[in-house]
Amino acid sequence: MASTPEGVSYINPCERAFPGSIETPRQVGALLEKGNMDKIYPLVDSHAHLEELEDLDSAIQRAKQSGVIAIVAVGSDYQSNTQVLEIAEKYKSFVYPALGFHPWNLEISSLDCNLQFIETNVEKIVAIGEVGLDYHKELIKLSSKDLQKEVFGSILALAKRYNKPAIIHSRYAWRDSFTLVKEAKVERAIFHWYTGPLNVLKDVLSQGYFVSATLAVEYHEEHRRAIKEAELPNLLLETDSPVIYRGHHAEPVDVIRALISVAELKGLLPSMVADKTTENAMRLYGIPEIYHP
Ligand SMILES: [Zn+2]
Repeated sequence: MASTPEGVSYINPCERAFPGSIETPRQVGALLEKGNMDKIYPLVDSHAHLEELEDLDSAIQRAKQSGVIAIVAVGSDYQSNTQVLEIAEKYKSFVYPALGFHPWNLEISSLDCNLQFIETNVEKIVAIGEVGLDYHKELIKLSSKDLQKEVFGSILALAKRYNKPAIIHSRYAWRDSFTLVKEAKVERAIFHWYTGPLNVLKDVLSQGYFVSATLAVEYHEEHRRAIKEAELPNLLLETDSPVIYRGHHAEPVDVIRALISVAELKGLLPSMVADKTTENAMRLYGIPEIYHP
């Protein structure tokens, strides 16, 4: 089903905001320090590898109890894509699936099979991802730049054909990633955990694409710089669970930490950041259009 950002009826996050939740960032920080993280703001974790969590039921429960209203589960290869669909089925109307082919998991033997799987299930998904380019020197020994670009191009063509947003992983490859997405004429893209140069970021934002903030916004200089630069209309929150941030294994409930840090960094009220990033995610992924027609 094709979806467009315009005209999509989405849940108004303001209706679900916690009454009296207009605190300053410092006050919210104090609340969090006291452990009072329950139902503060309605949030979307726009990027999580749920199939890698050890106790998914408990993690989903904790997220729901703390105000998370939706999670986008991203796939990395054929096997994880099948798991992502199962998880989305199990937690219907809360977990929304994206299918992809992560540059860390490229196996040329499974390329056709995985592309076919994504295409067969394309009507069930809210996005295509995680896909992208990773030019880390150890990785390109395993998957050359040319191979990565070929796979990325094939998947971007699917995103374009079915008008799905693309969730982009990039490392040391920001300019190439942006160029391929733009050349593929993909209309909606999320450059997840952006840490690249500012000139590429400006092109990403002026193209109307999104960047997403992870928990690394608490401490990582390049990521903080990018999130400070991006305006709210181009911003999403995520955890990339179960990534380990300074020793902490993330799970979707930690999207609250991303919220608080983004609010502090930008000098905005957490309620404002929560409302706008949630609205962005709901519109971008067309979640209600697909699941609540
Ligand atoms: Zn990821």
